[in-house]
Amino acid sequence: MVIAGEARLNARIQGRGMTSSRTRARMVDRLRKQGITDEKVLEVIANTPRHIFVDDALESRSYDDMALPIGHNQTISQPYIVAKMTEILLENGHLSKVLEIGTGCGYQTAILAPLVDKIYTVERIAPLVKKAKDNLWDLKLKNVSYLHSDGGWGWPEQAPFDGIIVAAAPEEVPETLLQQMAVGGVMLIPVGSKNQQQLYKITRTEKGYENEILEAVSFVPFLSGRD
Ligand code: SAH
Repeated sequence: MVIAGEARLNARIQGRGMTSSRTRARMVDRLRKQGITDEKVLEVIANTPRHIFVDDALESRSYDDMALPIGHNQTISQPYIVAKMTEILLENGHLSKVLEIGTGCGYQTAILAPLVDKIYTVERIAPLVKKAKDNLWDLKLKNVSYLHSDGGWGWPEQAPFDGIIVAAAPEEVPETLLQQMAVGGVMLIPVGSKNQQQLYKITRTEKGYENEILEAVSFVPFLSGRD
């Protein structure tokens, strides 16, 4: 019976038709045209079944370049933005310890996991933590620790981090997250109101923090507390 379960899981991961590796390859071609150049990132995206992260009814749209609902009023991020943020996060070289705020269904986590040593991911909605854990377990990604918490607190026991990636937009950068950056570390975070947000790339230096504004983005709001 275990074997039958394994076979079913493998078939689901592999996908077919609109969820096959050919559809994923087309998505990767599109990402190249949109300006993504890091081959390592593109390879991981080509090998990661985005369809297992969305509800069955939406599977056939899982390789379109759009955010899709994952329940609880939340979305799986658009492939372009996942690719872009991953590429920028890795720009300065290898990362050993990454903090992710806003695990959601775990797609961004699954793209980062093969490219860094260890990810600490925080999500405020309990059923999404479970969903992400299940998805990454199915994909045999083991270098991830999960926390059900308000990401505004970061993960103090594990700080400092050499990379921080945030998937929900606060009105201002949380001070606590700045404090949990290592010197030389990078944080990518969308900042702004519901309708107007900019993606910030913040670098911590010996002297303080440098901030570069990258592009206009659209994320769900950063909420406080746990659900
Ligand atoms: N990374 C996901 C995107 C999920 S959407 C992906 O790859 O698709 C953003 C997520 O951030 C939601 O699940 C939402 O619940 C979560 N979130 C919002 N504010 C948060 C906070 N303060 N702490 C932790 N998670 C938060």
